[in-house]
Amino acid sequence: MKKSDKSKLFLLDHLNLFKCPVCDSDFEEILDNQLICSQDHTFDISKKGTLHFLMKPSKTEYSKDMLLSRQHIAKMGFWQPMLDVLYSLLKEKGGTTLDAGCGEGSHSAYLRERGLAGPVIAFDISKEGINLGAATYEDLFFLVADLAQSPFQSEQFDTILNILSPSNYKEFKRLLKDGGQVIKVIPGQDYLIELRSFQTKERQFYSNENVKDKFIEHFEDLESHPVRYAVELTDREIKDFLKMTPLGWNVKVTENDYKSLRKITVDMEILIGNKTA
Ligand SMILES: [Zn+2]
Repeated sequence: MKKSDKSKLFLLDHLNLFKCPVCDSDFEEILDNQLICSQDHTFDISKKGTLHFLMKPSKTEYSKDMLLSRQHIAKMGFWQPMLDVLYSLLKEKGGTTLDAGCGEGSHSAYLRERGLAGPVIAFDISKEGINLGAATYEDLFFLVADLAQSPFQSEQFDTILNILSPSNYKEFKRLLKDGGQVIKVIPGQDYLIELRSFQTKERQFYSNENVKDKFIEHFEDLESHPVRYAVELTDREIKDFLKMTPLGWNVKVTENDYKSLRKITVDMEILIGNKTA
């Protein structure tokens, strides 16, 4: 089946999850390859099966090159130990999942592979990221949208994933069902510390206290699960690694420095919070 037809079927089955980001009204039908709201705003289903809900073009720092590097790093298993822990903590493995700020989609794709069931919608403000995700992975529904003007109905989601990506807690609470959960992954103090040592002094130290405090303000029944492991990289993987993270973009690292980047510390915290009625 063509990707656009597959998306059309998904949309028809799940129209209740979406609303028009222009006028907030319901989507009532799909004609040809267009999703149409009750005020006649239209959104095209692309050949790749994606939808584009941005009201104005966004400038992201995500180049195709950088996204391909991210994909290589994800494929070599860089995030796998963290995602395995995250998967084991998921209380709801069959509800409706929203991956908010999915980048090129590799995290949700891995969780799907592990057994995450139910509809999974992955969105990002980066069109390049969404295109790459949709070209690579099946069984996820990809769309381009802005968290500040999202195309989703209220109280439809059981789980919101927010992995190393910006949040909008007011919006997360609107989107979650009562009892729904947000799972947010944030860097810990020693996250990529080997790369951090190439940074200027003030960027060498990192604390996640502020981010954590904000999260605690908004959700109930909080859980925090630290995850820490090391990943060994080949020279080729180091090249991808340097392109993958903003921490690698403004540092001068030559091949002579690679020996200090062969083993990278991945220190993160998985935060889980619930929305209560
Ligand atoms: Zn509309």
